[in-house]
Amino acid sequence: MSLPGATVQAPSTGAGRDHLFTAGSLERYRRVLADGIGRVADRVATVDRPCTGVTPQHLAPRVRGIDLDRPLGDTGAALDELHDVYLRDAVFFHHPRYLAHLNCPVVIPALLGEAVLSAVNSSMDTWDQSAGATLIERRLIDWTADRIGLGPAADGVFTSGGTQSNLQALLLAREEAWARAGARPSRPELLSRLRLITSAAGHFSVQKAAKLLGLDADAVLTVGTDTDRRMRADELAREIDRCRRDGLRVMAVVATAGTTDFGTIDPLPRIADICAAAGVWLHVDAAYGCGLLVSPTRRHLLDGIERADSVTVDYHKSFFQPVSSSAVLVRDRRVLRHVTWHADYLNPARAVEQHIPNQVDKSIQTTRRFDALKLWLTLRVMGPDAVGALFDEVIDRAADAWRLLTGDPRFEVVTRSPLCTVVFRWRPAGVAPHLVDDANLYAREALAASGAALVAGTRVDGAHHLKLTLLNPETTVADLAHVLDLIAGHAGGYVRSRTAGDLSCPVG
Ligand SMILES: *Cc1c(COP(=O)(O)O)cnc(C)c1O
Repeated sequence: MSLPGATVQAPSTGAGRDHLFTAGSLERYRRVLADGIGRVADRVATVDRPCTGVTPQHLAPRVRGIDLDRPLGDTGAALDELHDVYLRDAVFFHHPRYLAHLNCPVVIPALLGEAVLSAVNSSMDTWDQSAGATLIERRLIDWTADRIGLGPAADGVFTSGGTQSNLQALLLAREEAWARAGARPSRPELLSRLRLITSAAGHFSVQKAAKLLGLDADAVLTVGTDTDRRMRADELAREIDRCRRDGLRVMAVVATAGTTDFGTIDPLPRIADICAAAGVWLHVDAAYGCGLLVSPTRRHLLDGIERADSVTVDYHKSFFQPVSSSAVLVRDRRVLRHVTWHADYLNPARAVEQHIPNQVDKSIQTTRRFDALKLWLTLRVMGPDAVGALFDEVIDRAADAWRLLTGDPRFEVVTRSPLCTVVFRWRPAGVAPHLVDDANLYAREALAASGAALVAGTRVDGAHHLKLTLLNPETTVADLAHVLDLIAGHAGGYVRSRTAGDLSCPVG
């Protein structure tokens, strides 16, 4: 008997089955993965620039031209094609002249973890989808909370990144504000009165989180920074007072331990004092600065972080881990109940009574990768001191870059970061300000187009600046000096072409 409208097709045998990872396909598994690893190694062996400067216009037709409904059937052919659309022109963070964003080279134990976790494919929501993986993640959360000093009631969960960690922390803060709202305003009324305070150098994910949390468009208040681009604690205290006078409720203060643009650390002890006195939730966004937790020499730069109510850490920023690897930690594990929902099919309340551990009760995700395994193998193979020593090295290198720049009359530096960021601009004497601005913009683009090095750009007080984020211990002072010469060359060439009356851009 066939159902009306159903087409009867012969079941496909063999072809698809051969590709399933099972006990029967282990030869293929070994061969295919070794082949893929070989291709990556071959490519990395020949990388002589952080990028090729490929443009979307060049690459898009190649990607578009591939017929996804016609498989190549063969791993080798698929890898050849992948070389063409991806591996050849990828941006390589392991290259010593990749100096742009918060992307680190990754450690090999973590790559091993990545291979293991995706093959076993545990899902972190429940014990019956993960078993030991749940316990391993919990140990790493406890280990991180210990390093921070959050105390015996701390807990947390791995997340996809700092953006999600910040969102979850602020969601918990919002629900705590609701739980503590004394005279019970209506929920919309409370939402409209909630405010978040961060500094002008805080991360934009705080703004996004506010939007997702249903807060007012003007709910995020930014207080000014001092000359070192650290949050001004006196202004914070005044802003909290002003909110109170205006009948607004400060739901959380977000302090940043490692600002994305300047690598500076807000004055955590003073901010913690102010939050404690005002009874305000303190969230510390240490997405970048968390590497200091394992630094053999600089842990003290995070002093005060132990007083936070919640903390964001991004192991994929400063623990040399592959994307994604991040966590949100809380001082009081009870606040995680705000993201708990019991589903009969998954995590019934009964499981709690039976003391079966699960992570879905603490997470805003359901199915979730076992990213913790990468950090686990990193710690078990290398240990925390070795990771921290790598971070120390790049901080030393940033100090070298700062010295090079401050001693060079062609350049001007904004501030000295305690981490590994250097923000500066090309600004030799005697060049008109509007030309300086354009020349810095141009130099960054020309450098990227050449592929010789990648640096980032940002605006500081309205002016175009360049930014080095030094996360690669293999970057040498000679690399830095070379890149500065290239930048000065591009910028100078641009100014010469403009002042010679030739308004077209010189070819990079
Ligand atoms: C990178 C960063 C984030 C966002 O983290 P993702 O992992 O990119 O989502 C948040 N805050 C700070 C300070 C950051 O540097």
